[in-house]
Amino acid sequence: MLNEEILHRCFRCGYCKMPSNYTDLNCPSYLAFRFETYSPGGRMWLLRAWLDGKIQLSKRFAEIMFSCTACGNCTEHCPFPGFKNLLLETFTAAKGAFLDEGNVPSGVRDYLTRMQLHGNPYGMAAKKRAYWANESGIAPFAGQEYLFFAGDEGSYDTRGQEIARSAAKLLSKAGISFGILTGGENSDGNDVRASGETLLFEELAKKNTDLFNKNNVKKIITLSPHSFNTFKKDYPLLGGNYQVFHYTQVLAFNMGKLKFCENPEPVLATYHDPCYLGRHNMDYYSPRMILSAVPGLKIVEMDRNKQNALCCGGGGGNLFMDLMPSGDQSPARFRVREAKATGATIVAVSCPLCAIMLEDAVKTEGLAGDLRIMELSEIVNESII
Ligand code: SF4
Ligand code: SF4
Repeated sequence: MLNEEILHRCFRCGYCKMPSNYTDLNCPSYLAFRFETYSPGGRMWLLRAWLDGKIQLSKRFAEIMFSCTACGNCTEHCPFPGFKNLLLETFTAAKGAFLDEGNVPSGVRDYLTRMQLHGNPYGMAAKKRAYWANESGIAPFAGQEYLFFAGDEGSYDTRGQEIARSAAKLLSKAGISFGILTGGENSDGNDVRASGETLLFEELAKKNTDLFNKNNVKKIITLSPHSFNTFKKDYPLLGGNYQVFHYTQVLAFNMGKLKFCENPEPVLATYHDPCYLGRHNMDYYSPRMILSAVPGLKIVEMDRNKQNALCCGGGGGNLFMDLMPSGDQSPARFRVREAKATGATIVAVSCPLCAIMLEDAVKTEGLAGDLRIMELSEIVNESII
């Protein structure tokens, strides 16, 4: 619920829109639009004015609220303990209030309708969810140690499917016992929750929880940090209690089981932290442990890394809502320019959503010959025998 008490505590110092050294802009929507109303503090004041009856709901107001990608930079950098942890919940509650009023951008409405009707943001048939694994030899879940959950992008997006197959292949090579469900799953709902549609989120979570429990699932490996986040933090509140791991967390401790090629060509790579593994769950190390074990691969950090990483702009449903500008001010294009400036030729990612966003940006920036977006498992698969 929107709480006026909370809104009054923001005094617009603006730290929340920057990284910790204050040398850049790090709220992706503020970076893209450059109006103060798109910054976290600006949003707080807009909401305060709305609750005070000084402004009305409008199309623009709704676009401002829904372009928040829930990246968590504001929560990380607002200096006020106690209050800062309520920022994201406040923005989510505001989106929920806008939904209740029926005042949402058409892209948001279409996204949520597809989720409601099909259980995924692509509007694809539920029975096609496991097609990504056809002919890959991945076993159906039948009591293996882990359930592997490919998530929406891994199940339906062509690029995401490649990544799902790559990560699953690597887990198999590392001797991990896992299987996949072959029908009946729904979206994890993480970004539905972030878009304020609480009831739809609970519906999706209940369907998944019922299915996981029916199959006696105890441990889950997720491909997407978004699935990881909500399975770990939100599902337990709805009766879904599992041990949840992002696949990099399992792989990082099993790298010794892989046999690497000898005398590899030296390569310079940089790593893009995804918000839902990094800032939201503070795991900056599993992916870096994996990369540091790859012979010949040298990591160079971007200026904004770990808790200061710039969001790719796709979170909170923004990959599907089409609210972010696609021009050279798009967060993903800023991010690939930052990656290029490191001299790296590979941008390593550990989230299929980031891979899709950044790959598009690399093409639009005309950097396709210079910079390759590679998911971590693809890097490792190319380096092992
Ligand atoms: S949310 Fe926190 S950091 Fe941001 S303007 Fe308000 S008080 Fe300052
Ligand atoms: S969560 Fe990210 S996008 Fe949303 S207001 Fe905070 S910094 Fe901006």
